[in-house]
Amino acid sequence: MTFTEGGSFEGGRVRSRKGGAVAGGGIGLGIVAFLIYQFTGVNVAPVLENLQGAGGGGQQQETTIETCSAADANTNRECRLSATIRSLDAFWAATVPATGAQFSEPDALSFEAATSTGCGNATSSTGPFYCPPDQTIYLDLGFFDLLQSQFGASDGPLAEEYVIAHEYGHHIQNITGVMDGIDRQGTGSDSDSVRLELQADCYAGMWTNDAVTRVDPKTGVTFLDPITEEQLNDALSAAEAVGDDHIQEQSSGGVNPDTWTHGSGDQRHNWFVTGYNEGTLAACDTFSADSL
Ligand SMILES: [Zn+2]
Repeated sequence: MTFTEGGSFEGGRVRSRKGGAVAGGGIGLGIVAFLIYQFTGVNVAPVLENLQGAGGGGQQQETTIETCSAADANTNRECRLSATIRSLDAFWAATVPATGAQFSEPDALSFEAATSTGCGNATSSTGPFYCPPDQTIYLDLGFFDLLQSQFGASDGPLAEEYVIAHEYGHHIQNITGVMDGIDRQGTGSDSDSVRLELQADCYAGMWTNDAVTRVDPKTGVTFLDPITEEQLNDALSAAEAVGDDHIQEQSSGGVNPDTWTHGSGDQRHNWFVTGYNEGTLAACDTFSADSL
């Protein structure tokens, strides 16, 4: 478990779309996938292409995730997503003003199979991503099973929370202007694309460290229990599993750093640790770093 006993997380924050599929859900994926590719938090499309569900017909039902106790958040994925977002809200609301930017919360939506987004239609094969135009984090919770079965990450709640925190990090980059003026078409192990991704990993580390001591004013208890070594290793395992080198090895068998957009497993591991240990935005300035 990671959420502290006694915690409670108000509902209504995260939307959930289930059943059916958006019209034309699996069709036209090529164009849509290209749009989303720029925004996806984990570059999983090459591996997941063949795994996408067909998605049935019918209407998707949208609800919001209801209030969850810490115990719920420790056992139920939807609750974990909602509670993690609440914790991220608290951390970034307190942290963003120092940058001179105004904080605003991202929207968050969990879906099954396929959904429409401000960046085009997404399917489970897209992987979790943040869409800047509608400032929304999109997640198919089934991805977390694939993270273990297809990418070899270890199980554990902090692995999931890392992914959510990474996507939230992209929202912070959006509202603080980091995304403006960088070359997001470029690739390579020291490209702006990779620097953007590694900074989101660093931000995820910052949140993880902070959530252990930040007290939720609504309940008087910290968001997270102290992180165990095993939990930290779960998060690091996820960061490594979605490294470009690992993905390339799995999809094509060869590793080509010139085409990286997200960074190697080692880079992602190291920047998460930097954020976790240093806990400052300055330490996460991957754009000024000489070596990544
Ligand atoms: Zn990302």
